[in-house]
Amino acid sequence: MKIEVLIPEQDVRDRIKEMADALSEKYAGEEVLLVGILNGSVFFLTELAQKMSIPVEIDFMAASSYGSGTESSGRVLVTKDLERSVKDAHVIIVEDIVDTGQTLHLLTEMIMERHPASFELAVLLDKPARRKVCLDADYIGFEIPDAFVVGWGLDYDQKYRDLPYIGVITEE
Ligand code: 5GP
Repeated sequence: MKIEVLIPEQDVRDRIKEMADALSEKYAGEEVLLVGILNGSVFFLTELAQKMSIPVEIDFMAASSYGSGTESSGRVLVTKDLERSVKDAHVIIVEDIVDTGQTLHLLTEMIMERHPASFELAVLLDKPARRKVCLDADYIGFEIPDAFVVGWGLDYDQKYRDLPYIGVITEE
């Protein structure tokens, strides 16, 4: 197995800084709740939170789409809920990637039912070619082609999450 660099480390960091600046400007004077989706969001969320210049709180949800390898089945299971209430909070869901859109569609509905003060969605990567439900993120790091990517929290059978660049697995 070989991993080719799709987006170099510095490009990822620079883009996250731009997203952090945009969020800090939009929510200036407010406090926001960053909701990370485990496990994939942790590297992106950490970098984003550290680069933001406004107060942030963080909490996590976990969801898994059944199956392993590079294909998801489309059935999403929420395996961990938030620890705190989102009522009246400025919620920003932070996710590694939006692919079919099914995971974020479900999680967005769950959050909206709890009446946050506001709600937005920030994703590091967007693969619009594979979308199955209508879902548009408010902040997108990079739009990428239909390839299976790893790094910055994204895994292949739980490995490669720690790569500091976005890579594509190519079979040798
Ligand atoms: P969805 O299809 O519901 O939009 O995405 C579900 C999940 O599939 C994502 O949160 C992510 O964990 C995983 N996923 C989608 N595309 C990729 C990819 O290219 N690489 C990796 N490692 N995971 C992906």
